Amino acid sequence: MLWCMGRGVVQGVALRKGMNPFFLSLAFKLSLSIFIVSSVLLSSLGIYYIKKFADEIDRHLYLKAQIPGRLMNEGALRRTQVCDRDMLTHLVGEEVLFAVIARSDGVVLFSTDPMLEGRHSDEFLPHIKREEMEVVGQGSSVAHLRQNGGGYLYVSSVLESEEGGSDRLFMKVYAGNAERQKRWTTLGFVVGFSLCIVLITAVGALFMHLMTVPRLSDTAHCLKAVEDGDLDVHVACVESKDELGALGRGVNHMVGELARQHAEQERLDMELTRAKEGAEQASRSKSEFLANMSHEIRTPMNGVLGMSQLLAATDLQPEQREYVDTISASADNLLKIINNILDLSRVEMGKFQLQVDTVDISALLEELHTSFIPAIKEKGLDLQVDCAEDLPLVRTDKGSLRQVLINLMANAVKYTPKGLVHVVVESLEQTSKECTLRFCVCDTGIGISREVQEFIFQEFTQVDGSHTREHGGSGLGLAISKKIVEQLGGDLRVSSEPGEGASFSFNITVDVEQGASDAADTTKIEDQNFSGCTVLLVEDNRLNLRVMIKMLERLGCHVDPAENGREALLKLNLAALPEERGRYDIVLMDIQMPVLDGLKATAMIRAQEGGGSHIPIVAVTAHAMKGDREKFLAAGMDGYLPKPIRHEDLVAVLKKHC
Ligand code: ADP
Repeated sequence: MLWCMGRGVVQGVALRKGMNPFFLSLAFKLSLSIFIVSSVLLSSLGIYYIKKFADEIDRHLYLKAQIPGRLMNEGALRRTQVCDRDMLTHLVGEEVLFAVIARSDGVVLFSTDPMLEGRHSDEFLPHIKREEMEVVGQGSSVAHLRQNGGGYLYVSSVLESEEGGSDRLFMKVYAGNAERQKRWTTLGFVVGFSLCIVLITAVGALFMHLMTVPRLSDTAHCLKAVEDGDLDVHVACVESKDELGALGRGVNHMVGELARQHAEQERLDMELTRAKEGAEQASRSKSEFLANMSHEIRTPMNGVLGMSQLLAATDLQPEQREYVDTISASADNLLKIINNILDLSRVEMGKFQLQVDTVDISALLEELHTSFIPAIKEKGLDLQVDCAEDLPLVRTDKGSLRQVLINLMANAVKYTPKGLVHVVVESLEQTSKECTLRFCVCDTGIGISREVQEFIFQEFTQVDGSHTREHGGSGLGLAISKKIVEQLGGDLRVSSEPGEGASFSFNITVDVEQGASDAADTTKIEDQNFSGCTVLLVEDNRLNLRVMIKMLERLGCHVDPAENGREALLKLNLAALPEERGRYDIVLMDIQMPVLDGLKATAMIRAQEGGGSHIPIVAVTAHAMKGDREKFLAAGMDGYLPKPIRHEDLVAVLKKHC
C-alpha cells in the first residue's frame, strides 16, 4: 500500500503539470468541505462557551455584589460603614461608585456621599424597569446596564432591621474588571477555536490528499493515456475494497474491453479494406470486361448496320424489306444497349471525360424535335419543345447533353400511351459569363409511384416486368443519364404521381461562349454532296471497307482503299516530289490493322510531310475509351469517327476537312 502511494504521488506530481489548477482538484474541494464543517461546528461551540463563561463571570460578580448586604444582615458590617467606599469596593471586587441605605419610604439614612443623606432615593437613583432587574439571592436583585460606553451594576439588597422595617442598600458598581475578563476570555476562545479549525482543515486535507490524490491521479493518468490512444495501460492500486479501488478495477476492465474491441475493430477494418479492394477490383474487372466486350461488338455491328442500310437502299420485295427493317431495328436496339453499357463502364471506371464545345441549345432541341417526330407520330402523341428565347451560345458537352435528352425523351415517348411529351429549356439565371439552364422533360404517361422513384436511377432497374416486356429497354438509361448530368454539374430529379405523367428535370450552370457565334456547331442534318473530295480509306476489315466505300460514294466522294498503314504510305508517296504524290483531301484511318497500325502510320506520315503540307487524317475506330481521342490527336490525327459510323458524323467530318 505504501509502495502504491509513493508511486502514485510521483505520478500525481508529474500529472498535475498538465492537469487542472489545485483549486479545481478534488483534494481542494474536500479540504474546503472540512474547513466549512469544522468552522461551523467549532464556531457554534466557541460561541456557546464564550456565552457560558460570560454568564459565569456575571454570576460571580452578582454574588460578590450581594456581600455587603449580606454582611450587614448578619451584623458583621455596621450600617454606618456604608460610607467607606474603599471597603465596599474591596468587598465587591469592583469599583463601587456610590452606596446608600434608604428607608422603606425612600429617605436616605447613610451614604458614601454625605450630601445624599436625608434626600429621597428617587431623586438620584435611575428609574430601572422591573424586567431589567435580576433577582440573584434572597432579597437581592441586580440590574446590569451599559451606560457611557461601560457596564454598570445597580445592586439592591433588603436589610433586615430589628424594628421590622425593610431598609435597602443601593449600590452603583462599575463592572470594569468583569468586562475585561469577558473580553480576554472571548479573545482566547476565538484564537483557540480558529487554531483548531486551521489544524483540523490542514490535517484533514493532508489525509484526504494522501488517501485520494495518488490513486485518483493514477486513474486519471490511465484515462488520459486511453484518450491519447494508448490502450496498453492500467490502474496500479486496485486491491483496496473502497470506492476508489472499485473505480480503478472498473477503469481497468473498461480499458481491457476497449483494447479487445479495438483489436476486433482493426481486424474488421482490415477485412473490410480487403473486401473493398476485392469489390473494387471486381467492379473494375467488370467495367473493363463490359468496355472491351462492347468495343468488340461495335466493330461487327458496323458491318451489320451498314449492310442493312445499304440493303435497304436497293430494290426489295415487300417481304424482304420487312426483314431488312427488322434487322435494322434490332441492330439499332442492340447498338443502343452496347453504347449504354460502354458509357456506364466509362463512368464507373472514372474514364468519362466531357468534350466541352460551343453549343447552340435551340439548334440541339430542333435536331431532337426532328428526330423524334416519327416515333411521336407512330404513337399518336403530341410533342412540344419550348426553348427560352435569346439563349446564348454556351460551352458544354453537346454529345452528353444530347444523350441525356434523348434518353429522357425516349422514355417519355415509351411510357406515354396518349397525350403530350413536353420538353422545356429555360434560363434561370444569366450573367455575361455564366448561365444556369433548366431542362425538363415532362409527359402525360403512366407515371411512377413515390416508392419506385427511389430506385429508378439505379442500374438495370425497371419498375415493372410487364412494362419492360411491353416497352423493351434495359434499365440503364436513367442510371447513365443521372451520372452524365452529375458530370455536367447538375442533378437529375424526377417528380411524378402514378397515372399523372412524369417530369424529369435538371439544372446545369454553363459558361457563355465569349467568342464569335460562327464557332457554334449549328450543322443541320441534311445530305451533302462532296463530289470532288478524294478519300484515302485505310481499313483492313473487308466488310467495313465495303460499307464505308458505299457510304462515301453515296455522298459523292471518290474513294481509294488501302488495306493497312504501309499501303496507305505507299499511296500517299510523300517522299516523292509534290506532283508525284497521291492527291487526297482526307485520310480515314482505321487504328487496329496488321502490318502497320493506324497510329504508327500517322506518325510516319507526319514525319514525312515536314512542316510544309498537312493532310487531314481522321481515326475511324471502335476504340472509344477515355484517353483514346487524346492518344489519336497526339499521334498527329485531326479527328475521330467512332464505329459504327453514323451518317451525320461522317458528313460532319467531311464538311470540316474537305
Ligand atoms: P428502360 O431502358 O427500362 O427505360 P430506364 O433506366 O430509362 O430504363 O428507366 C428505368 C425505369 O424507370 C423504366 O423501366 C420505367 O419503368 C421507369 N421510367 C423511366 N422514365 C419513365 C417515364 N417517363 N414515365 C414512367 N416511367 C418511367
